[in-house]
This record gives sequence, structure tokens and C-alpha cells, in this order.
Amino acid sequence: MRIFDPHIHMTSRTTDDYEAMRAAGVLAVVEPAFWLGQPRTSPATFYDYFDSLLGWEPFRAAQYGIAHHCTIALNPKEANDPRCLPVLEELPRYLVKDGVVAVGEIGYDSMTPAEDHALAAQLELAADHGLPALVHTPHRDKLTGLRRTLDVVRESALPVDRVLIDHLNENTVKEAKDSGAWLGFSVYPDTKMDEDRMVAVLRAHGPERVLVNSAADWGRSDPLKTRKVADAMLAAGFGEDDVDLVLWRNPVAFYGLSGRLDLTPAEAAATHEGNSILRGGE
Ligand SMILES: [Zn+2]
Repeated sequence: MRIFDPHIHMTSRTTDDYEAMRAAGVLAVVEPAFWLGQPRTSPATFYDYFDSLLGWEPFRAAQYGIAHHCTIALNPKEANDPRCLPVLEELPRYLVKDGVVAVGEIGYDSMTPAEDHALAAQLELAADHGLPALVHTPHRDKLTGLRRTLDVVRESALPVDRVLIDHLNENTVKEAKDSGAWLGFSVYPDTKMDEDRMVAVLRAHGPERVLVNSAADWGRSDPLKTRKVADAMLAAGFGEDDVDLVLWRNPVAFYGLSGRLDLTPAEAAATHEGNSILRGGE
């Protein structure tokens, strides 16, 4: 089984996690830039963080045979802090780099005017740089947040089929799917989706354009949730091809829109192990 976790914050995870992920079949990850928990007090701390997402973390991942890419953005929560806003001016310098496969994660946290501005500005940056965008829906008031997000996307220069709407659930999946966007689901131990709910969503709405992620970070989370969803799909009667579509081909297709996805390290590691998991498919 080959697995691509399209949303995981490896900066917050240990080498044990990398080892366990690789053993479970995770060959590729995308790490979105996000809030570190501790508020940043100056824009310069973002640049060190972005540099580490482009340099140090891919180096760490490669030691476990995992291909690492990132998405770069000012996250919605910090869009409300005037100390962080100068980051928007510096983003173009990062968005041209090879390891960046999307603008993200962007979207709404508390749905403030400052967040409106940051979301619209960063969707334009994605369009200008030929990148797709990872847009998450807010943790509270999800349906209102989704509708407002889709309105801003439709007003932007970025086509909706280059947008991945993340943190979806049973209440938001239908409208998101009808919009033509890619559909992201974060599977967490206690909140958001769990494996069984995810399988039910896949039964009801199909596997097309669906991506499943662990969104593992510094909070209670599980970097093996992608594999657990794959196992739950198989146990529920889905075929291996459906599992491969959701856990590999869909994330490859979405982030492949950047033209920058390079899965060579993962392929080399898999080949070295005499493993044929990367054969077939695309
Ligand atoms: Zn995240």
C-alpha cells in the first residue's frame, strides 16, 4: 500500500513518527505552514520557519524514505495580528521555490475582515504563481465558513478546481463537492472525522477528488490515521484501487497541479527495499 499524507505538520513530530509512518506505507507528505501555538512577535520568525519547511524538514523526511513538500502562507489565525501582516509582502519570494506545491493553509478562523483580506490576497498570489491553494474551513460555524470561503474563491482569479477545501465533514461535504473543489478530510483521534465516519462519507459521496489527511501537529493527533482509514475502507468492502485513489492518486493529482511534485526520493527508497508499491497506478 502506498500512502500520501497531504496535510501533516512534521515539524511538531518525532523521528519515531517518521519511522512508524514509513513502515505503515507513507511515502510522501505535504506540510502546510501554520500556527505554531505560541504567537509570533515579528515577521522574521516566519522566514526561519518557511526556510525550515524547505530545507531541514525535507532532509529529515528523506532519511526515512519519505518525500516532503510544503505549502506556504500566512495562516488565518495570525492574519488578525498586525505584527504578522508584513509576511504577505514576502510570500512571493517563497512561492517560486521548488519545494512549494501550493499556497496554504489559508481560509477562515474567526471570519474577520482581516481574514477576508488575507484569504483574497493569497488566492491571488496562488493564481499569479501557477499554484493550487489549500484552504481550510473554520473549526466553528463550518457551513457558514464554507459558503463564505467559496464566495471569496469564486471572486478570485484562481479556478475552484485548483482549490482543496480541507477539514470537511458530513455537514459540508455536499456543498464543497458541488462547487467543483477538491475535498479534504482530517481524521483526528477525538475531534473532526474518525475512520468510520470517513468510510460513511466515501460510501455516500464516492472517492473522486477526496483526500484524507492526519493533520497531525502539536496537539493530540495520530500520524497513522491515513493508514487507519485505508484499512477501514478495505474492511468495509472498498477495493484496493479505491484506496489507492484516495490515499495516493488524488493527492498526487492535486499537488501535481503545481508542476513541482518530485516523488523521486520515495521511489528510490521503495525500489531499494525491493518494494513494488510504486508500480502501477499512474
Ligand atoms: Zn494544519
